[in-house]
Amino acid sequence: MRIDLHTHSTASDGTQDPAQVMHAAAQAGLAVVALTDHDTTSGWDAARRVVAQTGVALVPGTELSTQLGGISVHLLSYLHDPDDPALRDIFSRSQDSRADRAARMVDRIARDYPLTWAEVSEGVEAGATIGRPHIADALVARGYVRDRDEAFRRILHPQGGYYRTHWAPTTAAAITAVRDAGGVPVLAHPWAMSRGAIIGREQLVALADAGLAGVEAEHPDHDEAQRQQLRDLAGDLGLFVTGSSDYHGAGKVNRLGQCLTGPAVLQQIAEAGRLPVIGL
Ligand code: AMP
Ligand code: FE
Ligand code: FE
Ligand code: ZN
Repeated sequence: MRIDLHTHSTASDGTQDPAQVMHAAAQAGLAVVALTDHDTTSGWDAARRVVAQTGVALVPGTELSTQLGGISVHLLSYLHDPDDPALRDIFSRSQDSRADRAARMVDRIARDYPLTWAEVSEGVEAGATIGRPHIADALVARGYVRDRDEAFRRILHPQGGYYRTHWAPTTAAAITAVRDAGGVPVLAHPWAMSRGAIIGREQLVALADAGLAGVEAEHPDHDEAQRQQLRDLAGDLGLFVTGSSDYHGAGKVNRLGQCLTGPAVLQQIAEAGRLPVIGL
């Protein structure tokens, strides 16, 4: 059974709508896929509607933006109640702050690379979570860079001179909110160095104490040594290990099913989460 627990759609910074992601998952031979758009659950309904048609089971999820001592940390949550007030409050604060931050970045970028907010926002679906990839798309459309990857390496990089931060809850607070909403919290790509600073072993131990359930060890941005260290550490801490592609459609090189999660771990997630896996 091929299981991929981390994908993005046009509900955040993916390039395919949720139904297209589900169809692509079927084509990639996946039995189960999690839709985990950044700081939102707005893609869930559209994905759910094509579960029967595609034959792909859906794990509804969200990738939360959090911060730990100034380091940006992504936290996956699976099977949480989308109507939980505290979690909804976190999502809306993150989305509002992301929109404001994107506008501030565009203002700064526009001094060197003429660009308007309208060019960025026209590429964002109504209600979608705005991120740097949307700015990247506008920079590509202007011809300043070839693709999102070049935009991230040159203009959008934290050290590129145009970067701004946005509000995010602490990782521990996010873990608590996810648990309270019946979700299963899993640390996304903890050691993906290309994103900037990463947390260390001691911080990961503290997150396990705070209620973390699992760690995404198998991820395209981790090399084999990092994966092995994360598997060992997760074993020591009683955390389960997931593997996922972090698919963004045409927005990233990551392919669906590039990294996979084992069926026993999926079962653990299904048992721990408040919502059922749809179509399993
Ligand atoms: P943000 O959350 O707005 O700071 O933007 C970060 C997002 O950009 C991540 O979730 C990734 O999906 C995406 N991203 C980061 N690096 C790259 C890259 N080199 N190419 C394409 N997308 C990227
Ligand atoms: Fe993303
Ligand atoms: Fe991420
Ligand atoms: Zn992601």
